[in-house]
Amino acid sequence: MLHSNLGINEQGHLTFAGQDTVDLAKRFGTALYLLDEERIRANCRRYRKALRENFSADSLPLYASKALSFTGIYRIMAEEGMGVDAVSCGEIYTALKADFPAERIYFHGNNKTDEDIRYAIDHQVGCFIVDNAEELRAISAYAGQKGITQKILVRLTPGIDPHTFAAVNTGKIDSQFGQPIETGQAAAFIREVLVTEHVQLLGYHCHIGSQIFDWVPFRDAAEIVLRFSAQIRDSLGFCAQVLNLGGGFGVRYVEADPPQPDVAAYISQLAQYMRSRCSELNLPLPTVLMEPGRSIVADAGLTLYTVGGVKTIEGYRSYVTVDGGMTDNPRYALYGSPYTVMLANRMNDKADFCCTVAGRCCESGALIQENVMLPRACRGDILAVAVTGAYNFSMASNYNRLCRPGIVMLKDGQANVVVRRQTFADLTACDL
Ligand SMILES: *Cc1c(COP(=O)(O)O)cnc(C)c1O
Repeated sequence: MLHSNLGINEQGHLTFAGQDTVDLAKRFGTALYLLDEERIRANCRRYRKALRENFSADSLPLYASKALSFTGIYRIMAEEGMGVDAVSCGEIYTALKADFPAERIYFHGNNKTDEDIRYAIDHQVGCFIVDNAEELRAISAYAGQKGITQKILVRLTPGIDPHTFAAVNTGKIDSQFGQPIETGQAAAFIREVLVTEHVQLLGYHCHIGSQIFDWVPFRDAAEIVLRFSAQIRDSLGFCAQVLNLGGGFGVRYVEADPPQPDVAAYISQLAQYMRSRCSELNLPLPTVLMEPGRSIVADAGLTLYTVGGVKTIEGYRSYVTVDGGMTDNPRYALYGSPYTVMLANRMNDKADFCCTVAGRCCESGALIQENVMLPRACRGDILAVAVTGAYNFSMASNYNRLCRPGIVMLKDGQANVVVRRQTFADLTACDL
């Protein structure tokens, strides 16, 4: 099986986190998101431990909460001693609602409005990751008005292409995020930061992309940022204490994906490299932050659907339709993301039926996956899509006025609703 929390029981049913998914579908209805709490916690602990063991004690993984955001997930992050990366006041609000400590929230975003800045400062968010000069000036002005000094990191674009999809690749020079090092803009920006009142620059941030299975792109990013740090120290006398290396560790979605990155080994290799480069550049080893999103929650998620029917277009292909679609998982429609699809109630039947899994949205590109092998499906079968914990619920929409599925958290043989399914009343709740 793709991940160790997937299995098959004596009835030939798919199990997830040790529980029978067919039973769960019956009990809670479909479409339905499942989450494996132990897996989320184990993923957090791996980063926590590796960063603590290899860097200073205050080094910290920040959960990139755009991957999956609801109050329960922030409660888990608080319990696991994680920080949180938020990209909007909606995410900050949700984290605070879960009593997540504000000082461990890092506020991202390439266009923070004046309202955003006021909200985050009023709620004592620990650190802003500043993208641009207009934002810097607005933070400075409001922090001055409040009589505080706001801690900040500056987002740099290191100019690295980690060979991922263009749509999820943000570290190269031509990007709407951050200040490019290569063009000299980053150095000029730091010069401005250092003479700006009411902000305290802690260090630098960079994020090179997503679904990265190798540690080398992170090493290259660290190299570029450390060299930049030494250059700024020499030219402006500022020495960065914090380096945030962003997120992007890959997760296996299908058998053909490379092996799952060994987070502990990668971070230890990275630390060795950074230690030696820091000593060569005569820099102190910085506090290291990382921002894993996908690799915290993706393999802790699974989506269940009920098959509505099978349509074979002779000479073309067969469609299996399910009671969800791009509303709960837009990632195939957006960028052709691969997924592993299974018939949860017939795991031991021969998968000899090639089909396309289509959702129920009125949009021809609204597919879940094409050319997958399943047992020949029929109405009432339970179809499971694995590794849906990241960027599914958080990207869900109400297109076609479909209700968003609920989330059921699985732990120790228990199943609890942590986000209820939307109702029709929710659909009109904002309509005046
Ligand atoms: C998306 C994003 C992350 C998380 O990326 P994953 O691939 O989910 O680990 C972290 N930091 C920033 C700035 C991001 O944009």
